Amino acid sequence: ESLMIYVITPTYKRPEQIPELTRLSHTLRLVKNITWLVIDDAESKSSVVEKLLNKSGIRYEYMLAPMPNEFRSNKKYLPRGVSNRNKGITWIRNNAKTGIIYFADDDNTYDLKLFEEIRKTKKISMFPVGLVTHLGLSTPIVKNCTFIGFYDGYYAGRKYPVDFAGFAISVEFLLKSPNATIPFKAGYEEDLFLKRLLPFSFGDIELLASCCTEILVWHTQTKKNHPTRKTTMIK
Ligand code: UDP
Ligand code: MN
Repeated sequence: ESLMIYVITPTYKRPEQIPELTRLSHTLRLVKNITWLVIDDAESKSSVVEKLLNKSGIRYEYMLAPMPNEFRSNKKYLPRGVSNRNKGITWIRNNAKTGIIYFADDDNTYDLKLFEEIRKTKKISMFPVGLVTHLGLSTPIVKNCTFIGFYDGYYAGRKYPVDFAGFAISVEFLLKSPNATIPFKAGYEEDLFLKRLLPFSFGDIELLASCCTEILVWHTQTKKNHPTRKTTMIK
């Protein structure tokens, strides 16, 4: 029996929400032994989302975690998905003892092989993410299957310049750090969260996806749809 993967997916209401969750659910349907933690940045549950989750056949938990207003008002740099991911972490702390945690945004694209790979995680694993920043890639730099640094388009003085899609941690490792949460600090969420975990060295990082030579997840972004109220005359 393989280890449970807890997939934490932040989501929020917009025209693209159902299409994104449809696509992601169709990927996750093909993965064995997962629990899908879908956390909506909303005040109340969406019956449409609930219906989608129900019919997916995936073992799931649907939860709410609205972004606090104080952060919502910061129009420029929103800490997107932070309350959602923290809610997922809390759920895992209360409900799991073993398994793997992976943060899977609703709009990214996942190769099924990614899930086989992250199931190997003993403590913390990392792997390349395609289509991140102008460079088009965020990844550990690896030589002879040994970590030598990070390649990322946005260093910003971070110790761990990585995207949420680019790492997985074991539940055991998370549980050793009871106070590790994700901060509401746009641009620094991953770095500060990883620093709040039990200290680990770069050498401890498990380099997945064939020593980080394969891209198995892409930080795709869906073009926003802006429905207008302009009427079109149909003749
Ligand atoms: N998200 C959210 N509330 C928001 C904006 C985004 O819960 O107000 C979620 C979104 O569904 C996604 C994650 O947070 O799963 C990251 O957001 P987004 O994809 O917009 O950010 P990106 O990293 O692609 O710029
Ligand atoms: Mn995104």
